[in-house]
Amino acid sequence: MLNNKHKLGFFPTPLERMDNLSKEYPNYNLFIKRDDNSGLASGGNKVRKLQFFIYDVLYKGFDTVITAGAQQSNHCRQTAAACAKTGLECHLLLGGNKPKNYNGNLLLSHMLGANIHFAGDNRKGEDILKLKQELEAKGRSVYEIPYGGSNLLGAYGFVDAVKELKKQLLEQNLKIDYIFIASSSGGTQAGLKLGIDLYGLDIHLIPISIDKIGLGDKTLDEAVLELLHQGQKELNIQKDYSINDAELIRDYDKPGYGVITKNEKMAIKQLAQKEGILLDPVYSSRAFYGMLDYLKNNKLKKNANVLFWHTGGLPANFYYSEELLK
Ligand SMILES: *Cc1c(COP(=O)(O)O)cnc(C)c1O
Repeated sequence: MLNNKHKLGFFPTPLERMDNLSKEYPNYNLFIKRDDNSGLASGGNKVRKLQFFIYDVLYKGFDTVITAGAQQSNHCRQTAAACAKTGLECHLLLGGNKPKNYNGNLLLSHMLGANIHFAGDNRKGEDILKLKQELEAKGRSVYEIPYGGSNLLGAYGFVDAVKELKKQLLEQNLKIDYIFIASSSGGTQAGLKLGIDLYGLDIHLIPISIDKIGLGDKTLDEAVLELLHQGQKELNIQKDYSINDAELIRDYDKPGYGVITKNEKMAIKQLAQKEGILLDPVYSSRAFYGMLDYLKNNKLKKNANVLFWHTGGLPANFYYSEELLK
């Protein structure tokens, strides 16, 4: 199951120490996992999920892929790129109305050849079935990748990522105590958690919630728990998961999804100006701010090795240039 992936990106992504930033927080050693460098149209965490989806699409013989997201969705941009590379027709269902100018991820999805549909207020893929039926009526055979790519198959991308990490830790003779990650549709979080348990690593996962609104009728931790239960069965993990295992930190999502505050800006500037690494304004900067807040307030055990898992999202910076300059 975990071998059924179609190669799309550059793996393993680099695992590096952040030397300059570690000096700012002398009680900790800070590391970064560079999934922003996973290849495929400027990279990001969705490439790992897409390797499993695209394998499934090609194996089952579908010719068309649809998925949904926000207008600045990194997931949609990476899906468009994956389809371009594998010769599949791509349809994206994006929240909101057609803007006058295309920018950031929306522009790139367009350049990558995706067919773009605007869904108005239904910004979490509510209309995906309707679009699927319309395309099927035109003779297409349509594979649906869920919102954010977060079902169990997508989460396998991050189970697999833990295997990759484990090998790097062995090679670098390194032990990681904590991983910080941005969590929004839950697949990354669930996959990492399952992977940590499957591969027997002693790492405390600290997922930072990005979007204060849940998924459909579920809260994000409920959605993550569902994936943990499914994965536990499929992968034969000897563990009984409870809602505590799906817990995520909600302290930083209050401004709402895609609202850039001084916290996100501070996080972007700090990493950019200390390490020359660019975060994105919606996801990774919010999670990075959360990590800095934990470090500053000494909420982690002393001398811990702390890993920030960079999930990508660079193109969105250009869309939010006005907010970022303020
Ligand atoms: C999608 C995304 C996330 C969140 O991943 P989920 O699996 O949806 O929780 C985090 N960071 C970036 C940059 C993303 O595009």
